[in-house]
Amino acid sequence: MNNHNTTEAFGTENRKKDTRLWSVASGASADSESAIREAAAMIEAGGTVAFPTETVYGLGADARNTQAVDRIFQAKGRPSDNPLIVHIAGREQLDELVLPYGETARRLMARFWPGPLTLVLPARPGAVSPRVTAGLPTVAVRMPAHDVALRLIAAAGCPVAAPSANRSGRPSPTLAAHVREDLAGRIDGIVDGGPTGVGLESTVVELIGERVNVLRPGGVTPAELREVAGEVTLEPALDAASDTRPEEAVARERTGRDGDAVQSRNAPRADNQTAEPAPRSPGMKYAHYAPRGAMRIVKGAAPERVSAWIQAELDAARRRGERTGVLAFDEHAGAYRADLVVSCGSLRALETAAQRLYAALRSFDEHGIGFILAEACPEEGIGLAVMNRLVKAAGHRIVEV
Ligand code: AMP
Ligand code: MG
Repeated sequence: MNNHNTTEAFGTENRKKDTRLWSVASGASADSESAIREAAAMIEAGGTVAFPTETVYGLGADARNTQAVDRIFQAKGRPSDNPLIVHIAGREQLDELVLPYGETARRLMARFWPGPLTLVLPARPGAVSPRVTAGLPTVAVRMPAHDVALRLIAAAGCPVAAPSANRSGRPSPTLAAHVREDLAGRIDGIVDGGPTGVGLESTVVELIGERVNVLRPGGVTPAELREVAGEVTLEPALDAASDTRPEEAVARERTGRDGDAVQSRNAPRADNQTAEPAPRSPGMKYAHYAPRGAMRIVKGAAPERVSAWIQAELDAARRRGERTGVLAFDEHAGAYRADLVVSCGSLRALETAAQRLYAALRSFDEHGIGFILAEACPEEGIGLAVMNRLVKAAGHRIVEV
């Protein structure tokens, strides 16, 4: 993994491309400069290159080039109605992408860019491929706070459309090894810049007048947004995501596990002919981040009760011959008996949970765990984004005990 400037072929089924791999340290060096130049040239030529950002690894392509953007959708198996975030390296690139915007948007950029905040703004017609915006009149833009990402985008000299560099439906990649697992042979290159920082995707917001509406919780918390915006709201569909449901309904439901995005039960289906409104952020209707095993979240006011319930369920599953796993926090992780116990760190430091979550979900797959229970965390601060991803990973299966 650490060999610099090597070309590796990953020849398995449907993995037909030679995926170039570069290892790049943060900060300028002659080696990293030439790697970034080569990766940027691939993007300029219409290729697809995965690169590190402070949130998760992104899969980048020239946002103006429809064929290049199509390659992102193909490599990920991403539904074409789910628009992509456009990444820029400087404010001068923004004016080419969007129509004039208001004071609140300006303040958000001044405070949070570069950083894990994506703004949905009115698109300048023709600035990016209609595939990027899925035909919407708006475009989602962000400036990542990662030296390698910024250097790559600047060197490519174009706006870079970049969703997370995973197969659709799978946990997002926080290491280059995760990108290889999902996309080697399907994309042109991977820039390995080490582990990502935040570990969860950016916060996506739209502006309704001067009100900031959070479409997806992420690295920037609502409290931080409130420090610069007069009014901050959470898209109502986000609450639906953490609704609890009866056990038997939960047990009946199995979402698709084959790596392609599946529509979540809480959102209107694309083929729905009823009057349900379209989601404001198309990506919200898809289930995401799922490990291959069946996962449930266990919630409750009394932590001892939650732990006892989890252990009893694990024991029962083991007696049935299942391989069992728990996603827990340091406060209780030591007490569980299961085939795999993964801790997301302390409940008092949920930034660590954000950093570890996706690698933890992938580790259940690596150990062939079919039966997974996850402790819930408080939906405060970054915990809101952690629970949002966990609920999606569990296909909305939540048990209240
Ligand atoms: P991903 O690329 O997987 O991190 O997901 C990007 C998220 O941003 C998805 O939830 C998209 O639906 C959302 N998004 C991208 N562009 C727009 C847009 N123009 N309007 C609303 N949401 C958007
Ligand atoms: Mg994604």
